[in-house]
Amino acid sequence: MKKKFMKFMQGRYGADHLSNFLMVFAMLLMIIGMITRNSIAILIFFGVAILILGFSYYRIFSKNHYKRYAENEKYLSIHNSVKGFLGGNVKKAKDRKKNHIFKCPGCGVKIRVPRGKGKIMITCPRCKHEFTRKS
Ligand SMILES: [Zn+2]
Repeated sequence: MKKKFMKFMQGRYGADHLSNFLMVFAMLLMIIGMITRNSIAILIFFGVAILILGFSYYRIFSKNHYKRYAENEKYLSIHNSVKGFLGGNVKKAKDRKKNHIFKCPGCGVKIRVPRGKGKIMITCPRCKHEFTRKS
């Protein structure tokens, strides 16, 4: 049985990040469909979920490695840019609470200074220009 399966899978592309994502997404759609308790909504959500699952299995059993690999790469680049965008914003918001950003009047470089220290003297790390600001 295992041998037969191995033979069947030979040369096939197999699961990757995109197929995993598609399966989770399809499951989510089914759950959302069930939550709505509306028979038409369930039909639509399950229909779309089954299409996505079908596509996912089609990719796993596909022998066109090159195309599947390209699809996965595309998915990963979108995934990473979304992740980077969300992560970057959270980090920035957290940072803004703790630090104050001042622009050096000498060279325009941005300098991060901790908040709540009162009036402080800031020395620009780039041009050594000194200026005072309230943090
Ligand atoms: Zn400067």
